[in-house]
Amino acid sequence: MPHDHYSTTAPVLIEQVETFIVDLPTIRPHQLSMAIMQGQSLMLVRLRCSDGSVGIGEGTTIGGLAYGGESPEGMKLAIDTYFAPLLIGQNANAVPAVMARLHKAIRDNRFAKCAVETALFDALGHRLGLPISQLLGGSYRDSLPVAWTLASGDTGRDIEEAEQMLAQRRHQIFKLKIGRRSVAQDVAHVAAIKKALGERGQVRVDVNMAWSELQARHGLAALADAGCELAEQPVASAEALARLRGRYPIAIMADESLVGPGSAMDLARAQAADVFAIKIEQSGGLQAAQHVAAIGDAAGIELYGGTMLEGAIGTIASAHAFATFRQLQWGTELFGPLLLTEEILQQPLQYQDFQLRIPQGPGLGIALDEERIEHFRRDRSRSASVSMGATANAV
Ligand SMILES: [Mg+2]
Repeated sequence: MPHDHYSTTAPVLIEQVETFIVDLPTIRPHQLSMAIMQGQSLMLVRLRCSDGSVGIGEGTTIGGLAYGGESPEGMKLAIDTYFAPLLIGQNANAVPAVMARLHKAIRDNRFAKCAVETALFDALGHRLGLPISQLLGGSYRDSLPVAWTLASGDTGRDIEEAEQMLAQRRHQIFKLKIGRRSVAQDVAHVAAIKKALGERGQVRVDVNMAWSELQARHGLAALADAGCELAEQPVASAEALARLRGRYPIAIMADESLVGPGSAMDLARAQAADVFAIKIEQSGGLQAAQHVAAIGDAAGIELYGGTMLEGAIGTIASAHAFATFRQLQWGTELFGPLLLTEEILQQPLQYQDFQLRIPQGPGLGIALDEERIEHFRRDRSRSASVSMGATANAV
């Protein structure tokens, strides 16, 4: 009887919380307005429960502290020092209650909370024999469209990369990272790529808040003319986003401004976005991401599944959450694992026909290759030579 686990007389308790950092090189430098990434560091958390079940979760940031207040090292410290004592001995089946306990005692740390919630759901899924998407209410879809980010910094190389992705039927939506150069240079870059791809590829941009409102007025008008369909967070403030939204024939997507359900309400009220880029880490967890989606839906805001360039664990946790969204008009950008040179799963994720298949096994539905994980752990001897500064391999 699998449901015996739910007996109130014999709850399954969280017994052990382990954290470690895994450093993986990227296939090429990844240029954003605020950082150039040469590698990615995954903070992994592993929860062990009294019945022997185990769950894993991931916390990952973009460019160390370049994106926000949390870093892989900071998440590890926070979980080891502050989360673990609140988790040990708690009923592992009561995920919302455990998360409420964390939210009450720990004010921010959304990324670390997301990693822990992922591990709790993974363990629960293994105990019940159900995928996380089922635990979250059931899925609307079993695969997700995945955009690819062109961020080499070179127009010709980006076009070549896009052509390869189209030929392989891996991606047909392309997001261009801009904002490092002048508006005119960036617009020329985007226009050249859209012209080369034509109707075969959808082209969107992410400015990562790099523009002033004045620059955005020029930039958005020119991008719309170039056939670019969406601009992600062109400016930093929600007020400026609201003033820009609806003025040009290009969708405005909120990303950095969207940091959980409260901010989703504020953005909806201010009519500051046509589209929400929902990320499980930015939201503060899988359930919080669902709440953000519900607010977007209610406000008539379209939805997109975003990434913090997580590795396989965070990517699949995101996929399970996004699978439950009723609307997902703009697809997702769950390509994080494809940016890494190293496979850390026993079975690689399935990216085909422009979609990511959502694993249907219990919990996350993935199994780590423990030997590979050991190999790339920062606290193991070999890892001392691999860090964020590792030389990237060519594509
Ligand atoms: Mg973004």
